[in-house]
Amino acid sequence: MTECCIECGTPLASHLEGRPADYCSATCRRMREYARRRAQAAVARAERELTEARLRAVAGTFGQRMVSGPLVAFWAAEVERARSALRALLSAEERGAR
Ligand SMILES: [Zn+2]
Repeated sequence: MTECCIECGTPLASHLEGRPADYCSATCRRMREYARRRAQAAVARAERELTEARLRAVAGTFGQRMVSGPLVAFWAAEVERARSALRALLSAEERGAR
């Protein structure tokens, strides 16, 4: 079976020894690192926003408490979405690592 670059899908030249390559180029490896950092930052931001929204739900102004329900629900969903996206990236790398 021909292995492919986990970033762009380009078929990789087979290696007779050593760890098989995951990427076709340094550019693809760096693109994946960039995507991973973005995904990690998105999780961290969503978690931070969720914490803030929960805090405002109990200790905010009257107006903040009035809109807190939808905001908490939104950021909770964002945390899940961002974690899923990060998990998908990491599992693709794991498959590449074999
Ligand atoms: Zn590639």
